[in-house]
Amino acid sequence: CGVFGIYAPEHDVSRLTYFALYALQHRGQESAGIAAADRGGYIITQRSLGLVNQVFKEHDLRALAGDLAIGHVRYSTTGSNEWENSQPVHRSAGSGGNRELALAHNGNLINAVELHAELRARGVQFSSTSDSEIIAAMISTHPAERIEDAVADVLPRLKGAFSTVVMTKDKVVAFRDGAGLRPLSLGRLGDRFCVASETCAFDIIGATAMRDVAPGEVVTLSERGLSARQVVSGEREAFCVFEYIYFARPDSRMNGQLLQAARGRMGEILAREAPAEADLVIAVPDSGNPAARGFARALGLPQDDGLIKNRYVARTFIQPGQELRKHGLRLKFNPLPEIVGGKRLVVVDDSIVRGNTTRQIVQMLRDAGALEVHMRISAPPIKHPCHYGIDMSSREEMIAHGRTPAEVAAELGADSLAYLSLAGVYEAVRGERTTHCDACFSGEYPLAGTEDAQHKDAF
Ligand code: 5GP
Ligand code: SF4
Ligand code: MG
Repeated sequence: CGVFGIYAPEHDVSRLTYFALYALQHRGQESAGIAAADRGGYIITQRSLGLVNQVFKEHDLRALAGDLAIGHVRYSTTGSNEWENSQPVHRSAGSGGNRELALAHNGNLINAVELHAELRARGVQFSSTSDSEIIAAMISTHPAERIEDAVADVLPRLKGAFSTVVMTKDKVVAFRDGAGLRPLSLGRLGDRFCVASETCAFDIIGATAMRDVAPGEVVTLSERGLSARQVVSGEREAFCVFEYIYFARPDSRMNGQLLQAARGRMGEILAREAPAEADLVIAVPDSGNPAARGFARALGLPQDDGLIKNRYVARTFIQPGQELRKHGLRLKFNPLPEIVGGKRLVVVDDSIVRGNTTRQIVQMLRDAGALEVHMRISAPPIKHPCHYGIDMSSREEMIAHGRTPAEVAAELGADSLAYLSLAGVYEAVRGERTTHCDACFSGEYPLAGTEDAQHKDAF
């Protein structure tokens, strides 16, 4: 998912939120929502299934006018694509709560089942099973007078990944889990402030990126400017390496690294680790582009576009359902026989999950006359599910689970297949393993109890 929040009375905050969500659209395409408020007035929320530009029309943005706003784009991690699970969630003070608020979050709680049971036992009502409603209910029913104090008390009780924005009618409060699993950055617009999942959202609205919100930190944006408070500290940091590899936009910066450049380095390191005898390097667009360039650059091989991607087909992986994914792929790529025909190809992609994309691409390229197809992947093999907010499916569906790279190559029909090593990933992102999460590759989950956590379907 993607989140955004802003306090800026002299600006059209709902319009800025709309554009920010537009920039974050790649983080979720199932639903979009905005909540806005006038200081001292009330919170208005609009959310619906669909893309940002399908959900909001001009008159909607006018109705959402205000001094502060938050927004969300949703990516389903549970497979349930329903209106009730769209965000921001809105809780009124009347429903057993202490304060009216709207909240949006990116991540996944691993103690949601326990927290839900506890809240139900206290008589708190719910309309969905989403983590965001649980967090919203905990903050809304908290007796503290100031929302920052309620958040500071609730944050340590939440386990898992959560980059969260919550607003009352006069403040936006944003916070990040103690491990900092999912990204969240702080930006400045004149003398006002905003927060976003990725810095590309700041670029589009003319704000400047200041810094990342720290793991375990709570920041408040209000009439009094910016205030920040470190609520949880000393936890093992675990920023998601998959954000650098694939998920985030290449023009975003995370931990000070421009992702386009980090992905280029992944390709260069992959070329060093697993060179290939080939005539041409092509990318699986768009996610493989920067690594393909790096790979070609490192080996001095020619590079070209061998596959054309239809821009108007959404990210295949995001639409739930295996059947949809399969069809989606044929719509998505078209090979260029004049470019790939008669060539020994290196084909660079960012990652393989189920292997559907790669299998079809290898076949398409052979049909278009390629002599050899050598797959090079700028990530290690994905073998374990993500419990922190990225939809990786189950181990059984992952093609690398229980297979060697040679077996995966055979399964996909490629002449060879090599993956970037985990050490290579860290070299490319200029980061340490001890402060990141790489559980989907290594199986080592940074948060205690992750794999024994009760599943949401237990609701
Ligand atoms: P596969 O067909 O192997 O399941 O899908 C892998 C392709 O989907 C990769 O090339 C990558 O670009 C993309 N992908 C990998 N992981 C994710 C993910 O978590 N979400 C989305 N939307 N796409 C992904
Ligand atoms: Fe990121 Fe993988 Fe860790 Fe999930 S398991 S947070 S996708 S690195
Ligand atoms: Mg891809």
